[in-house]
Amino acid sequence: MSILPITVYGDKILREKAKPVEKIDDELIFTVRSMFETMHRASGIGLAANQVNLDKQLFIVDVSVIEGLEHIKPVTMINPEIVEVSDRTVYFEEGCLSLPTLKAEVERPEIIKVRFLNLNEEIEEIEADDLFARVILHEYDHLIGKMIPDRVTPRIRKKLQKELTAIMTRTVEVDYPITERKLT
Ligand code: ZN
Repeated sequence: MSILPITVYGDKILREKAKPVEKIDDELIFTVRSMFETMHRASGIGLAANQVNLDKQLFIVDVSVIEGLEHIKPVTMINPEIVEVSDRTVYFEEGCLSLPTLKAEVERPEIIKVRFLNLNEEIEEIEADDLFARVILHEYDHLIGKMIPDRVTPRIRKKLQKELTAIMTRTVEVDYPITERKLT
């Protein structure tokens, strides 16, 4: 296992739709373990594959560190599909390891159903609500190239602009490894 550098806003891979996972092999399982180590090291509760520069439809979630959610086991979701969302939505402040220092209120459905492959190649379908649902939707967004700034109003996005530029140019303080800026 190893700690992987995390991609940040401005890295192209975060804006692309990830490719489906075709084979769940030892290499993938090893990568998932490294992703968990990377996420925990960065005190995150969710991490998508493209956040560690891997073009695959896969993310991990571990909300068990949150008070009251200790019963929710860490989960790996491969080729996930959001199959149902509630009409009722909730607002809550979100952060993202690829947007260090940035926080913004994001509106999300309160309850969802998600279908995915687990590491044993079995299809699972689970219902999630509140913060667990939010993290799943946030990570799912990563797999379709979307991030927090795409989920806020234009007015709020404008307010975030300065911070986004600071993140892109790596002039923010980050206490976990991030990718180097590519000048293209
Ligand atoms: Zn994120």
